[in-house]
Amino acid sequence: MSDTYFQPVSGFGLPRFAGVATFMRLPHVPLTDPKLKDVTIGLIGVPWDGGTTNRSGPRHGPRQLRDMSTMIRAQNGATGVRPFEAANCADLGDVAPNPADLMDTMERVTSFYDTVRSAGIRPLTAGGDHLTSLPVLRALAKDAPLAMIHFDSHTDLFDSYFGGTKYTHGTPFRRAVEEGLLDPKKVVQIGIRGSAYDNEDRDFANAVGIRVIPIEEFHARGVDSVMAEAREIVGRADTYVSYDIDFVDPAFAPGTGTPEVGGPNSFQAIQVVRALQGLRIAGADLVEVSPPFDPSGGTAFLGASIMFELLCVMAG
Ligand code: MN
Ligand code: MN
Repeated sequence: MSDTYFQPVSGFGLPRFAGVATFMRLPHVPLTDPKLKDVTIGLIGVPWDGGTTNRSGPRHGPRQLRDMSTMIRAQNGATGVRPFEAANCADLGDVAPNPADLMDTMERVTSFYDTVRSAGIRPLTAGGDHLTSLPVLRALAKDAPLAMIHFDSHTDLFDSYFGGTKYTHGTPFRRAVEEGLLDPKKVVQIGIRGSAYDNEDRDFANAVGIRVIPIEEFHARGVDSVMAEAREIVGRADTYVSYDIDFVDPAFAPGTGTPEVGGPNSFQAIQVVRALQGLRIAGADLVEVSPPFDPSGGTAFLGASIMFELLCVMAG
């Protein structure tokens, strides 16, 4: 049962379009706040797109996700879960990136999440581009590799870009496997599609035992069958959930740097998260929302809704 301090600001006391926008109108608890010790799930922004190789913009994601998340109410309409009563949730603020130095920023992210983990808090991150997941995993998987369920239209398993650059948003999970942060036999990637440079990423997945479920298979089998397999792959292991908004079809989520056609609709986008109920989720992220490509705010609203669904399965 949650402490009353950690309840969102009521929309009947202060209308939801008013006030300072924190994630889901939760209290802002910086890492230096004594209240940090009571937080069990921390929502964190990583406003950074230093790993982006094509159309940049996700550095603006956390701010727009906070704004659109004020639309979210306290109770899940489908499952009935009331996450803010089931867990002490708070907005822990943003990691301060160094927009001019990628390696420095990754150290800053890992350091922030070291503190979060030491405080016994499970993080729910708003990116940022997908390279964000790597320094987060370096903190969360310090003692043992994690399992992972990854929603994306890309595997993000490439070795390098531009003739040897190892750290981009196309390489985080290659690095995470190499660094022993993920157990590749307990990793499943769902929704993979789009044109490709070559098969290098798929060859790596096959070599280390990562299960890739391409979009053709996703549509043929449906959400229930695919998610039953995903649950079996991770089992009772501590599991990281990484959700790239470009998993969703660009008709529903155009505001992202690397869209690929033929994806799931916005209903399937939340159904796959509801199917995670009961798993041991060590942390989760929602990345690649790019406000410069999202003039309606619809992509950020979907992103905030996916974050709420993630929060419900983490808290419930
Ligand atoms: Mn990605
Ligand atoms: Mn992607």
